[in-house]
Amino acid sequence: MRVLMIGAHQDDNEFESGGLASKLIKNGHVVQFLSMCNGCGGHHILGPKEISERRAKESAKVAKLLGIKYDIWDNDDCNLVADLATRKRTIRYIREFNPDLIITHRTVDYMPDHRATAQLVQDASYLLTVPNECPDVPAMRYMPVIMCSEDKFTNPVFRPDLVVDIDSEVDVKLQIANINVSQVYEWLPYTYGHEVPDGDKERFEWLKGMEITSDTTDEEILNAGRGYAIRYALPAARHRQRLIELYGEERGSKIRFAECYEVSEYGSPMSEDMKQELLK
Ligand SMILES: [Zn+2]
Repeated sequence: MRVLMIGAHQDDNEFESGGLASKLIKNGHVVQFLSMCNGCGGHHILGPKEISERRAKESAKVAKLLGIKYDIWDNDDCNLVADLATRKRTIRYIREFNPDLIITHRTVDYMPDHRATAQLVQDASYLLTVPNECPDVPAMRYMPVIMCSEDKFTNPVFRPDLVVDIDSEVDVKLQIANINVSQVYEWLPYTYGHEVPDGDKERFEWLKGMEITSDTTDEEILNAGRGYAIRYALPAARHRQRLIELYGEERGSKIRFAECYEVSEYGSPMSEDMKQELLK
């Protein structure tokens, strides 16, 4: 499978789909990341040029860790719009990669860049197959399957069509967070008013937060505080019943870490083979 993950920012693909990306790579599939924005808005001390250069370096480390190609477009953070030029760029980019599956945001989201990214993919989806649109890049014969990663918004409520077991990938996913130093140890703590401890080891422990074991209950996870271990465990706790439907009682009841996806109506329907490959 060729899987294209399209996020608005450097950390959206990572934090929402990094576990699935890692698993797919290990299972022999090709994964590519695109961040539609350049990261210029994500810091309280560094200016736009400095922070976007620093974030590009962090993303290069993520790409190396996962073994993927990672593209970053030159749109400024907070300024992405679903205009015609960007739609055409999106069509050409997707056709050139020729994915079987695209993962992106939903069009309902608090962040305008997330909404614009989702809208651009949605606007591109049918046009990918129309030869006279952007005729310089050959049209795709079929639309790819499109999935949206989970968000917290409730109107309309997110539908967990797929809840993917990422227990085997959670350490990689925590490392991915640890690589995004300017975000997880600087910008995001600034926005939340959190104090970050000194020392690489100490701050990584702080980043993870609560230790999650096979004895940790869903109730404890749902009521826990901050930390990326909790963040990555919440989808499994929230969608336990769906996990059991998808994986059976034995495995579904034990999964600690998961990622959730809604299959978009605007792409091709997902085949049973693809679904089983994603759930592996
Ligand atoms: Zn984002």
